[in-house]
Amino acid sequence: MEGKKIKVNVLGEQLIDTLVKYSQKITSEELTREFETKLENIQKGKTQKENIIEEYKTEISSILDDIEENKLKIGQELYKAYRESMIVGECKCGKNLILISSRQGNPFVGCSGYPECKNTYSLPRGATILKTKCEECGLPMISFGKPRQRACLDPKCGKEDQEPSNEVVGECPECGSELIKRSGRFGEFIGCKGFPKCRYTRSIEENV
Ligand SMILES: [Zn+2]
Ligand SMILES: [Zn+2]
Ligand SMILES: [Zn+2]
Repeated sequence: MEGKKIKVNVLGEQLIDTLVKYSQKITSEELTREFETKLENIQKGKTQKENIIEEYKTEISSILDDIEENKLKIGQELYKAYRESMIVGECKCGKNLILISSRQGNPFVGCSGYPECKNTYSLPRGATILKTKCEECGLPMISFGKPRQRACLDPKCGKEDQEPSNEVVGECPECGSELIKRSGRFGEFIGCKGFPKCRYTRSIEENV
């Protein structure tokens, strides 16, 4: 243990703070020091591990009692801390957008103002939420897919006045047909006119 700093992330710190708030015993210096001495004694072979575990059963169960008593509040605070650690941007309503992982299905982005604000945005598979904000609406941009595409978190953003251009941008290196700009569900990419026979695609950013 000596010399080793334990790295605690923000969430971990929150966890400790919250637990300490509800059970002073957890970090009581006395207890910690006492426990350290006992551990040393075990290492030196002076004490049997079993004895100590027995001795601390009461201490630990009293800590657990504190936690049990306050579990609702602890849960709420941790949940709040957890949500805060998941903030990805600002919702159109001014509250925070948070990344929500659901047990079943893909993670999605929702508003911290829920249930008043019901804005949610589904994420394409393997999407990363970028720090960049959309110039149109201020929502975060996402990056996803293969080839990697970039688009606004809101799949409807800017879609109303944007017709698929079908602009020819070059020649397919695989079959020689025309390459055109295509609009996918989440943004534009470059694809081969020979699709579906030729499945060549590339992202718009790669200016090859
Ligand atoms: Zn909102
Ligand atoms: Zn946008
Ligand atoms: Zn092709």
